[in-house]
Amino acid sequence: MEQATLVIIKPDGLKKSLTGNILTRLSETKLKIIGAKVVAVTEDLGKKHYSHLQDQPFFDELLKYITGKLHGENRVMPLVYWGENAINKVREIAGATNPEEANPVTIRGAYGRILTSGLFENVIHASSSSDEAEREIKLWFSPVDISRPLYPVEEIEQPSHKEKVWR
Ligand code: GDP
Repeated sequence: MEQATLVIIKPDGLKKSLTGNILTRLSETKLKIIGAKVVAVTEDLGKKHYSHLQDQPFFDELLKYITGKLHGENRVMPLVYWGENAINKVREIAGATNPEEANPVTIRGAYGRILTSGLFENVIHASSSSDEAEREIKLWFSPVDISRPLYPVEEIEQPSHKEKVWR
């Protein structure tokens, strides 16, 4: 089944100049990039993205990580990949959540590490299901940022123009 998935190259990936290496690894999937940008992550966006983990003991540190406070680097690079079995293909190349347990030939196994504080610095995010992919893509991207129709949209009237938003 063709599907979309969200990848985010996290602040450690940008700080370590790993974007090229990560995109090259992801190109092995032969999936299509249909959205890409660089975003400065606000507290609000970080909280919404990781809302399912808000009760975890590592949540505050995870927020500091994704908003760039841990690395003095608040940029992340969200990407939308599209194609056959995209979610599993990307999760396979991304590797396990815990970078120490991740297969060394995966992105997290090769480039991730665990900080002495216990934080998993695991370089990229990859959607875990098609429901999560939809929620996350709608959170990080506007319809006009994606190069193919993905989910239903509607047009809202702005004073000077019409704007497409996710329905
Ligand atoms: P993912 O889908 O593999 O990214 O895993 P989750 O959605 O469960 O976790 C989101 C992020 O939280 C991970 O990518 C890690 O950065 C962090 N994380 C998850 N589980 C743990 C944990 O047990 N300890 C710590 N320190 N961080 C974790």
